[in-house]
Amino acid sequence: MLLSNYHTHTSRCGHASGEDEDYVLEALGHGYRYLGFSDHAMLPGFSEPYKRGEYSLFQDYVLSISSLKEKYKGQIEIYLGFEAESFPDYFPFYKELLDNHVLDYMILGNHMAIDRDKNIVARFANITSPSQLYLYKDLALKAISSHLFSIFAHPDYFMANIENFDSDCKKVSKEIIEACIAHDIPLEVNMAGIRTGKRMIGRKKRYIYPTDEFFQLVSKYKAKCVIGCDAHAPEQLSSDAGEFLAVEFAKKHNLVLVDKLDTIQQH
Ligand SMILES: [Zn+2]
Ligand SMILES: [Zn+2]
Repeated sequence: MLLSNYHTHTSRCGHASGEDEDYVLEALGHGYRYLGFSDHAMLPGFSEPYKRGEYSLFQDYVLSISSLKEKYKGQIEIYLGFEAESFPDYFPFYKELLDNHVLDYMILGNHMAIDRDKNIVARFANITSPSQLYLYKDLALKAISSHLFSIFAHPDYFMANIENFDSDCKKVSKEIIEACIAHDIPLEVNMAGIRTGKRMIGRKKRYIYPTDEFFQLVSKYKAKCVIGCDAHAPEQLSSDAGEFLAVEFAKKHNLVLVDKLDTIQQH
């Protein structure tokens, strides 16, 4: 049984359900000792309805999770974080939140790229060219070496719409895994991808992520991994089926799993 989950969303993002406290109660019931909230980053000057909460909700997020930290002290250790993209123009903002202990930690969710005017220039769930794949890698490496992120969530997100793990995919994967090892950032086996079930991607039936080819490499490198629930509803925190399949996936690939992360601390 897992003791920790560092990948939990809240209803503020517009595509998750339940009250913040429901997630805590569900986690307590399931026996978690460490629960990290990592809702989609709410960013000043960047609005993305139904994908992330408006920046105006950020203060409420901080206050709500902070009060739950206090209320459940001694029962469960709660951390406050963000799942954020590698938006280099926002790195100073991320750094400020961490340095000032507004947030305890951040996880990297490399979903998309934006330009200087904050227009979305690539969505990595739907990569259609090698240049987009290499942009995914470049942004990932920038984030990994920034010391802002404690976990790389669904690191093989780029495979969501790619049928064949070709030589470019292999090259990108290797560089990502090597960087994660160098910076001691665990790679996440993402339970949301598993919960979605296997589906046809081109002619192959598989999870959108995690993918066998990527985690075979992770295993070869003996890189650290975590299982992330990526909960968008409280009951997903106690989904035995999801957890079983994630653990089975990790066992199949002989992954080095870490549970409690010392790099994530309460502030
Ligand atoms: Zn989400
Ligand atoms: Zn997530």
